[in-house]
Parts: sequence; structure tokens; C-alpha cells
Amino acid sequence: MIKKKYLLIICDGMGDLPIAELGNKTPLEAASTPNLDRLAQNGKLGLMYVLGKGIRPNSDEAHLVLLGYDLEKDYPGRGPIEAAGVGIVLQEGDVAIRANLATIDQDLHVIDRRAGRIKDCSAFIKDLDGMEIDEVKFVLKPGTGYRVALVMRGKGLSDQITNSDVHYATEDKIVEHWEGLPVNVIKPLDDSVEAKFTAEVLQRFLERAHEVLEKNPHNGKRQENREVKGNYLLTRGPGYFKQLQSFKEKWGKTACCIAGAGLYKGLGVMAGMDLIEVSGATGMPDTNVGAKIQAAREQLKNYDFVFVHIKPTDIFSEDGNWQGKREFIEKIDLAIDFLEETGAVICVTADHSTPCILKDHSADPVPLLINRPGEFGDGIEKFSEPFCAKGSLGAIEGKDLMKLLFEY
Ligand code: ZN
Repeated sequence: MIKKKYLLIICDGMGDLPIAELGNKTPLEAASTPNLDRLAQNGKLGLMYVLGKGIRPNSDEAHLVLLGYDLEKDYPGRGPIEAAGVGIVLQEGDVAIRANLATIDQDLHVIDRRAGRIKDCSAFIKDLDGMEIDEVKFVLKPGTGYRVALVMRGKGLSDQITNSDVHYATEDKIVEHWEGLPVNVIKPLDDSVEAKFTAEVLQRFLERAHEVLEKNPHNGKRQENREVKGNYLLTRGPGYFKQLQSFKEKWGKTACCIAGAGLYKGLGVMAGMDLIEVSGATGMPDTNVGAKIQAAREQLKNYDFVFVHIKPTDIFSEDGNWQGKREFIEKIDLAIDFLEETGAVICVTADHSTPCILKDHSADPVPLLINRPGEFGDGIEKFSEPFCAKGSLGAIEGKDLMKLLFEY
């Protein structure tokens, strides 16, 4: 028996709502997508409520659930996912935190949360990587632009601490007008010894990091160029790392991940997938989607399951750019050219809807397409939200996607 191969393509935020300028069609509906439409005609369609009806998903939670993990039990927080995505090998008990390189004045008031959207913060971060306070080691790696992954490694740590970021005192407490506010002092969120210790050590680290960053020669150069300094770390999204059951253990399939953006690479790594680096995969609108799908075709020879993540559909949506979204969907379609010739079971879907008119994620269900070689298709002519509502898969929940795909 030939081993079945599976290809999962998640187009981030692809689901949408009717747009007046598109004749009340969605960007997917208005796009010319001959390849997706052929896969749809010969495959089955449906709608998917990724986290359940009425729930507006975050990307990371949505992906974890789509891959078959239990949000309650397995969700590690954003920090660990981002850290794994930039290549920090996490250990059980680590607390991983997202940070921005930011600009503050001498009274510790925030001038710019992103240090003038600095393009590369490596030269600032390298002086802080490896620092130790009270036997807690700080591991830091630059992410894209001003973003930093920060990991605290040591005994007795907790993720129950607040953020130094003025925009997010805690993850669900957002401060809109943060300009000129003093940086938040890290505080414990519960009464445990661990939370108190972690908050104190992190606060001391942030103060010491501020001194080191102030003296960084790159800040002198930035000031000469009338650019703001990078002199503080604004932290958020702490998460305690515990090893997840691997995708292979869970589903009995070897798996790899092809993604441009750090968050999705991190999710792949956490699920024990091999990361396939594709040059030109940026996770931005200029990403080379053709190269990613080409890499997927090749990796289907090596793995049972290939997960491809495509980000720009969501980026265009959050800008309200329905035109850009439609054109990008056409680019995806071009890349998917006769993908069924791989002989793999192909699934194309999204992690959530991001309607262009809302410029934000919504609770609307996402379009779902599953094409199995040699199977009767629904014969529905177009891959789009309204046609998916008529498909034979009906309306499913995200937690059931892998079971459906693998025919458990
Ligand atoms: Zn998303």
C-alpha cells in the first residue's frame, strides 16, 4: 500500500465578508482562481468554526487547535512560541517573553514602543544575551525588526508576572494612549514565591539592560542621524514552557513546516515538525509563495504531512486592502498550479476570517477545501465562502480538522 501524503495550506485570515466595491463578493470569491476551483470541484467543501461558533480566534491559538492540540492544556503563551520561532531551543521550566526594543527618555517615559521601527536590533541584543542575575540566565535573540525573544532560564520561575510594555499592562489590559507613560514595573500576578522571584529578577534585568543599551555605540550613531535610540525592552506575553506531545506521536505522521513568519515556525517547532527554510519566504506581502509551494511539492517526498503557512492574506485584510488581498489570492492560486498531481490529500483553509471591512479578526467561519485523489467531488464550481456553505463537509470545528483529514 502506498503511504498517503497530506498537504495542509493555511492562508492566514483568508475568510472574508462581502465587499461592495467587489460587487458584494469576498476577495476569494472575486479572485480568479482556476487551480483552487478545480481542486474544489473535484474535492469537498465546507465551513470551519476554528475555535467554535462565536469565538474570534488569535492566530496562535487557532493553529494549535487546527493541528489537534488542546488549548486549555497545551497553549504555552505567545512568548514561548515566538522564542521557538527564532531558533531558541527551549527547556522545560523556561519562561519565554516577547519584547520590543523601545525608546524611553531619562525619566523612563516611553517615547517610541518600537525604537523608530528599527530594521535590525541584533547589534543591541547581543550585549544582553547570556546575562545572569540570581542564577537566572537570560537568553535573547532578535526577531524581525524591533522584536526580541527573551528567555529566562533557571530554577523556580513563573509566568504569572505583568508586562513592562505600556501598551499591555497584562495581555488583556490594553492601554490605547501610551505615549509619555512611564514603563511598567514588573509585578507578580499571584502570591507564589516563584512569581515574586521572577518579577524581581526580570525587573533587575530590565534596569541593567537599560544601562547597557544606553552605552551601545549604535545609539550614538542613531542620534547623529536624528533617529531615536534603542534603550529599553518592553516585555509582554510571558509563557511557561512545557514540552508538547509531537505531531508524530499524536497522529503517527512525520511532519514538516514551511513558514516565513516566526510565530508559525515556532508553532511548527513546538509540534516537533522539521522546519524547512525557503529563501524568499518572509511572512510579508513580498513573500515568495511560489517557492514555498514548490518546496512543499518536494517535501511531500520526504514527509507524510507538510504544513504550509501563508501570511499576507491577513496582512492585506488588516490594512483593509481588499484589492491587495484579492491579487495575493490569485498569486497563491498560480503557485498551486496542478498541485493534485503530487497525489497528496490537499487541504486549503484559513486560521480565522479577517474581513477587510473590519480590518480585524472575526468569528466568521473560514472556507475549507479537502481534495482527495480518486474521490467523488462535490462538483461545486468555485472555492469561496458562499460556495463552501453548500459543500458536503458541512460546518465543522477546528479541533476536528486533523481527524477529518486523516479519516480517523
Ligand atoms: Zn491568523
